[in-house]
Order: sequence, then structure tokens, then C-alpha cells
Amino acid sequence: MGRVLIIGAGGVGTVVAHKMAANPDVFTDIMLASRTKAKCDAIAEAIGDNRIKTAQVDANKVPELVSLINSFKPDIVVNVALPYQDLTIMDACLETKTAYLDTANYEPENEAKFEYKWQWAYKDEFKKAGITAILGCGFDPGVTSIYTAYAAKHHFDEIQYLDIVDCNAGDHGKAFATNFNPEINIREVTQKGKYWENGEWKLTEPHEIHKPLKYPNIGPKESYLIYHEELESLVKNFPTLKRARFWMTFGQEYLTHLRVIQNIGMAGIEPVIYEGKEIVPIKFLKAVLPDPGELGENYTGETSIGCRIKGLKDGKEKTYYIYNNCSHEAAYKETGAQGVSYTTGVPAMTGAMMYLKGIWTGAGVFNVEEFNPDPFLDEVAKQGLPWVELHDVDLEL
Ligand code: NDP
Repeated sequence: MGRVLIIGAGGVGTVVAHKMAANPDVFTDIMLASRTKAKCDAIAEAIGDNRIKTAQVDANKVPELVSLINSFKPDIVVNVALPYQDLTIMDACLETKTAYLDTANYEPENEAKFEYKWQWAYKDEFKKAGITAILGCGFDPGVTSIYTAYAAKHHFDEIQYLDIVDCNAGDHGKAFATNFNPEINIREVTQKGKYWENGEWKLTEPHEIHKPLKYPNIGPKESYLIYHEELESLVKNFPTLKRARFWMTFGQEYLTHLRVIQNIGMAGIEPVIYEGKEIVPIKFLKAVLPDPGELGENYTGETSIGCRIKGLKDGKEKTYYIYNNCSHEAAYKETGAQGVSYTTGVPAMTGAMMYLKGIWTGAGVFNVEEFNPDPFLDEVAKQGLPWVELHDVDLEL
């Protein structure tokens, strides 16, 4: 049915490649390209059957991307490299008139600030070129945004309060590690908290607001209000929302490590001179921390991510909770990657499938909640991420 170019051979790229290879009727030709070709080759070898072609590319360089796209001629490019590469990959897609999909919004390398404004600025150009860009198609953003669209479509006349709750109750046995790219992860969780209330953004100190929330099959976990990128597009696309917040669980050990890392300057993104050479502390830190792609082997426990929503149905107040639980061990057994990579990679593959099947269409730049949620949720459940709905329950929030 279609040709796909995956860019980025980390934990998420591993899952995307495995799941695409397992759906040969949709993904007939697959190429995996990344900065380090050896990583692509190792993934291709684990999948076997010569299903995956590989290539080296520096995704910061538009001409390199353009020549790779022109030689392989994919129908869609799936960007699971780093948020820093979003704009260069979108530029190359525009130049070659190729569809685009990613899982994280653009972030300039020298400023820890992620916003959709840079990618939304491509709307007119993508429209004019007649090509589709699908933004934020991982789990959060991604499935959480689609859960919200599904709830608004089927269960509410008006959604008013949205709380996205993200719990990782897994244990990887390491003193400290991040579940996806350490640099991006640490930049995300150390910034100020932010949430939407009554038409404006409210700021908090990092991790200032927290409370225990009960997660299905897991129990209570301390959950911290942080800012997360899907809030920006959801409050725009669902203007009835009076409040939208994002909660993530962190263990005490993790927070202590994070505090020390910050206090000693290792989370810094400004270059420092070390023995006559410029180094960026957080990039050096990434080099010494465990590789998230390698955490899978002894990872036990599960993730639980979902949306807790309150609003109106038939003039009455209604509550609703939709979520998925994902086992790290099962994810590793199937793909060789842990649950956080799995919950990101499966939706990215499913989104690309929606595009290739002609289900998600349109010229322009779209966040995932703007598409029909029904076929996506049917498919993502079949592909390994089933979801559960609870009606009229205590949301604890
Ligand atoms: P990793 O760090 O494991 O992998 C990133 C990959 O991108 C690496 O293979 C890296 O190459 C490659 N890469 C980096 N820079 C370049 C470049 N200039 N050119 C080509 N390739 C490059 O990250 P993850 O797999 O954990 O995460 C991938 C993406 O998924 C990130 O953007 C992350 O933010 C996003 N994500 C989204 C989530 C969601 O739910 N929406 C959740 C988790 C992650 P090399 O191997 O040489 O370093």
C-alpha cells in the first residue's frame, strides 16, 4: 500500500520499525534512517527478512534529507528523531511534497521551550503544496488527544474539565534513568508547571502542585502537575474547556536525583568550556546516563495513561475516564523496547497507517485530535494498546 521513511533509531524508532514490519499489507517498503547507521542496521537485523532498508542521515541538514527522500520516494516520513529536527524534516517534506508525522513538537536546541507556533506556521505552505502534516502522534501527545476527541464526540455535549494522567509504575532497576531521550525528558520535567483555567494559562513553580491519584491495577501514586504540549492544541480545538491540566507520577528517588542534577548545573543547556572544549552539560549527562532504549530487559511493572474528563451530557454533569495500561515486560518481549517507547511507537505507526489507508487526509498541518478518532482507536487497540472506559466515576480531581 505505501512506502515509509522512519527517521530516528532510538527506543521509539525501534518500536515503529517492528510494528510497521508486522503490517506488511500497509507498509510495503520501509526505510529506517538515523544519524548512526549501525543502530538502524541492528534494528533491521533483529526484525529480519530484509524487511527494513537502512540509511545514514543528519536530519539537521535539509539537503541531506531531500536527497534521501528523493532517492527512496516515501509516501510519508515518520519523524521519531528529536524535537530539534522537526522543522528541518518538515522543510524537506515541503520541498519533496511528502507527508509528515511526528510525536513531539519543535523545541529550539538553545532554549528549553516547546510550543506549536513554529510548526503551526507551516499550515499555509503545507496547504498550498497539498500535503498532510500530522503533529503529536505518540501517546501523550497523541492517544491522550485522541481520547479527548473521542470523549467529546461520543460521550459529552460539552467537555469542561480535562485532566491527563500519566503514571509509570515500572521499575528498571537503575538508580536513575529516563524513559525517553534524557535531554528532552529532563528539559520537560524541570520547567515551570502550567495549566489552563478560565481562558488563561496559570503558572506554578516546578512540581509545586501534587497529590496522590489512584491508577487502575497500580494503586495510589503521587502525581505532579507539569506542563505538557498537548494542552496547547487541546484548549484551542476544544474551546469549551474551562480547565485543562496534565499530571505525571514521579518517585521520590527520581525527584531527588533531578534536584541534585539541577543544583550542580548538570541540567544546563548553555555551553561551558571544559579543557579547552565547548560542552553542553545536559548533553554530556545524556552520554553517561543509561540509554532509554536499553532499559527494556529487566523492566517490570506497567504504565497507565489516560484522560479524566468532566462535562455535560443531556443537561447533567457527567464524569468519564479512558485509559490504557501497558506492561513493560510484554512490550520488551514483542519489540525489544520498554513500555514508554512502545506506547509512543505503536500510535506513531497507527497514525501513519491512517494516512496511508486514506482515512486521515487533508492538506495542511493538523494536531491528531482534528482527525476522526474512531478508526484510530479501533486500530490502536488491535495493534497492542487496548483502552478501557469508565463512566460516572470519582475522578479524584
Ligand atoms: P532516543 O534518544 O532514544 O532516539 C532518538 C534517535 O534520533 C536516535 O537514534 C538519534 O541518533 C536520532 N537522532 C538524533 N539527532 C539526529 C539527527 N540530527 N539526525 C538523524 N538522527 C538523529 O529518543 P526516543 O526514541 O526515546 O524518542 C524519540 C522521539 O519520541 C523524541 O522526539 C521524543 O521526544 C518523542 N517521544 C514522544 C512521546 C509521546 O508520547 N508523544 C513519548 C516519548 C518520546 P543517535 O542514535 O545517533 O543518537
